[in-house]
Amino acid sequence: MRSSGVEEHNRIDRLTGVYTKEYFYQEARKLIDENPKIRFAILEMDINRLTMINELMGMAEGDRLLSYIGSVLMEIFTHEPHSIYGRIHADLFAVCCPYEESRMFQYINLIETAIKEYQINFEILVTFGIYLCDEKKLNVSIMCDRANMALKSVKGNYVTHCAFYDNNMHDKKMREQEITQHMNKALKNREFVVYFQPKHSLDDNSIIGAEALVRWVSPEKGMISPGEFIPVFEENGFIMKLDAYVWEETCAFIRKRLDDEKEIPPISVNVSRVNMYNPMLCDTLSKIVKKYKIPNGLLELELTESAYTENPQLMIQTIKQLQQLGFRVEMDDFGSGYSSLNMLKDVPVDVLKIDLNFLSGNSNQEKGTSIMSAIVRMAKWLGIPAIVEGVETKEQVVFLKSIGCTMAQGYYYAKPMSRQDFEKYLESGFRIAPKEELVQKEPDIYLDFEQLWKSGTRGFDLYSDIPSACGLYEKEQNQIELIRATDGYYDMVHSNRKEFYFDGLYLLGWIPEEDRPIVMKMFDDAENGMIGEGLYRRNCHDGTTIWLHTKIKNVSNDGKRKMFLAMINDVTKFVDDKSGKMKQ
Ligand code: C2E
Ligand code: CA
Ligand code: CA
Repeated sequence: MRSSGVEEHNRIDRLTGVYTKEYFYQEARKLIDENPKIRFAILEMDINRLTMINELMGMAEGDRLLSYIGSVLMEIFTHEPHSIYGRIHADLFAVCCPYEESRMFQYINLIETAIKEYQINFEILVTFGIYLCDEKKLNVSIMCDRANMALKSVKGNYVTHCAFYDNNMHDKKMREQEITQHMNKALKNREFVVYFQPKHSLDDNSIIGAEALVRWVSPEKGMISPGEFIPVFEENGFIMKLDAYVWEETCAFIRKRLDDEKEIPPISVNVSRVNMYNPMLCDTLSKIVKKYKIPNGLLELELTESAYTENPQLMIQTIKQLQQLGFRVEMDDFGSGYSSLNMLKDVPVDVLKIDLNFLSGNSNQEKGTSIMSAIVRMAKWLGIPAIVEGVETKEQVVFLKSIGCTMAQGYYYAKPMSRQDFEKYLESGFRIAPKEELVQKEPDIYLDFEQLWKSGTRGFDLYSDIPSACGLYEKEQNQIELIRATDGYYDMVHSNRKEFYFDGLYLLGWIPEEDRPIVMKMFDDAENGMIGEGLYRRNCHDGTTIWLHTKIKNVSNDGKRKMFLAMINDVTKFVDDKSGKMKQ
């Protein structure tokens, strides 16, 4: 018989050594047809950030990874009966093999383990989709599409890496196709409408801003929520057009208010994470604000934290550029990802936006509230204003106030509303805070700090020409936490404010064990009304150890928080290391 189908030289993918797409389709077809008793499955896998590896480390590095994956598949499946594997395109591989659940998970495990072992300076994530080939007559390419739909449903998901195809995915795909078909016309027909949701001050209820949120008002289907179409637009790239449209509509609105000499608070617009990859982003935005002559500070940008997870370097660079253009940047969905803390270390955001639903939405309410307090506290420490969204009840407002939150957005105040309704809202008697006020007000205890430090240290004898520093501590049982410090403090311990937040706040961790009793006694004395005093060693952030002489006094007696003011001097050069005493 004449051999039909894929020609010999097109059967093996040169780069990876596995079957080409065409040959895989052909062989899978044969496999399924020739073994009617076996239930087959298509397993597809995809590397999440191959393009980035290519961009950052060069194509050769990307190729090396692909060929490694080829070899992994070969090792796992070559000796498995009735199993074949191929590369469908770029970073998408497929396996066709007999289905048995536990076996399937074993395969996935083996692949993931092999990829973890791969030597590369980059986190590689793989996602899997599985289609059970029960409709045996279906084209293999369609079977692969279905495995791919399953795969896409978990792509970018940090918890689940694997999904099975089900029929809902098919329906969803059809809806998505419909959205894609209609989007261009809808934009032209102005079916996309910008809504506004006010942001309020928790102190005096004044309006401190609003967020622009898009709606699709379709003549046939009515109002479609962004949750349905935004993900589709992010996938097909249309989001860049839609975002720009929303920015322009928002600017036109701000301009109109200004021309009519009516008050307008800053309005924030969303910038999709996809726009991070848009080289024209800055250009587009600055053209729009120029066109409508929007004064600095009236248009703000919301960027979602998930963009950081995807590509930290690009995110940092983009934010810096946008800030240079004069935009304030809000970090949307802060706390929802896995990189929040890392991100804050590197990214110079102006405002953190925290969604209450991310935290209280999941079962553990208590954990949610403590995370929220921790985030608000951290934001204060770093001097970054924070706004909480998704606020729905009076209780939440009370809680947020209690942890020192100052700004909120949510149904409790108002739902997103049309431009007309928003104008009425602006005229309904709320005070509208001028944009300058948005800068965070420091909580009292911090404001008082400089004052406190001046008056509180009176009577503390200071060493002249020795580095000295001042810190405010809170003591709770046997933990001593730094609440505030002067710049001299960070210099003294060879650190800086940010670095300190992340691992420096608990004092005792930095004191060599044998000196801890000295420090504790110092605090005990202060608690008893005396001036505590001590000479002890402290490890610094750069690995060195210094000698400190400290005097502290208790500065808060309200019974709730035990606060101490400390005056600290680096006396290393005066101390005899052996005896631990001051040199004579
Ligand atoms: P987001 O930016 O996090 O917007 C906040 C979402 O929370 C909005 O949903 C808002 O209506 C909703 N929300 C406000 N207050 C409350 C509340 O008290 N409780 C609850 N449960 N929800 C509240 P919406 O308008 O459906 O938008 C969903 C998402 O779609 C937005 O999330 C944003 O990521 C995206 N989006 C909306 N408009 C645009 C846009 O113009 N461009 C881009 N790129 N994305 C947009
Ligand atoms: Ca937002
Ligand atoms: Ca949000």
